[in-house]
Order: sequence, then structure tokens, then C-alpha cells
Amino acid sequence: MKAVVLLSGGLDSSVVLYQAKADGCQCYAISFDYQQRHRRELKSAIAIAQRAGVNDHQVVSFDLRQWGGSALTDDRIDLPRERSLEQMSQTIPITYVPARNTIFLSFGLAYAEAIGAQRVYLGVNALDYSGYPDCRPDYIQAMQEVFTLGTKQGREGQGIQIVTPLIQLKKTEIIELGNRLGVPWEETWSCYAGGDVACGVCDSCRLRLAAFAELGLRDPLHYEVV
Ligand SMILES: [Zn+2]
Repeated sequence: MKAVVLLSGGLDSSVVLYQAKADGCQCYAISFDYQQRHRRELKSAIAIAQRAGVNDHQVVSFDLRQWGGSALTDDRIDLPRERSLEQMSQTIPITYVPARNTIFLSFGLAYAEAIGAQRVYLGVNALDYSGYPDCRPDYIQAMQEVFTLGTKQGREGQGIQIVTPLIQLKKTEIIELGNRLGVPWEETWSCYAGGDVACGVCDSCRLRLAAFAELGLRDPLHYEVV
């Protein structure tokens, strides 16, 4: 079975790619260069896709800096730093990119239908602290309706399924799953800060480091500050 896998180069989507492989899928990765602050993640996406031996890897480019609206697409908005997990869980953070997963899933759906894939894998996770609205189960259900009703494949035959293997997992459980699947963590990239070395203090670094620490494991990535 062919599957499109949305691959950012981060920890979650890398685990999802390895899960799709373990599910027996021929994997077609898709990544997005949207002029994000942390474009460094694309280098990781390319490396992970190669390591996983995908059938193809598409990198789609567009510019969400044109209207900004997020700390990840507007340098005038400061990135939150050194926040506790408690603080992160309070509100939808400024690193939320307006409608990002709807954009990504739309590209993923178009790619899937074009190549006759039956699944689109997405590494959303409702339990981590980000609280992004487009990572929640009711949103995924609604998008599944779009996938079914908005495609020839969905109307005429077997529709394309959105698969979200991580949606109910904690970060620590995602890392345990990745360890079982053999995900090369050193190739992944989570930092939002935009440098060539992971900062260790943005929300994304903190969540990742906290999860490795909770498991008593060492994150093989090099950090500026730990
Ligand atoms: Zn960081």
C-alpha cells in the first residue's frame, strides 16, 4: 500500500515515517519549506527520508512570511524561551502557525490522490503541551470528511485515510516507540530558534529534552544550553 507521510524532520514526524514503514507501506514523504524560522529542519527531513529509504520525497515551497502571524514566520515576534511545561499548557502559543496543518494536509491529499496512495500519515499529538487547535482529534475527523468528500478517489472508491499514530501518545511514549522502530534521533530536528545548533530553551527543545530526561535517556542531539 502506498502512503504519503508528512515529514517535518522533527521527532514526531520521523517516528511516524518509521511507523508507516513498519505498517508495510511504500512511503512517499512530503515536506514544506514555508520560510519557517527553523528551516534547518528541512535538512533533517531530507536525511531522515534517505535513512528510511522512502520511494520519493517532495519538498513543496511557499512563503507564509508574506503575512506572518506566528513567531515561526515573523522575526518581529519573539520566540517564547525557558518556559515550564506548565506555562506551555496554558494557552495556544504564539508559535501556532495559522491553519498550517490544513495547508499541509491539503498538499498531502493532492499528492496522495495523484499517486494513488490510500493513506496520509500525520504526526499530530493532542497530548503534548502545544495545544495547537489543528492537532486535535475533532479537527482530524473533520479533515477526514474533506478527504472523503473532496476527492475523486473518495467519491468513487476507497477514500484516502488520515492516519495519526501518535495522537494519543505522550512525548515519552513517542520516544519509546521511536526507539523500538530504530529512529535515528541524531538526524532529527526540533528546535524553533533558527540556529544551526539546537537552542535548548525554546518550547520545542524543552519538551523534547524533558521527555528524554524523564525516560533517563540521553538525547544525542547537541544543544547550546541544556
Ligand atoms: Zn530550541
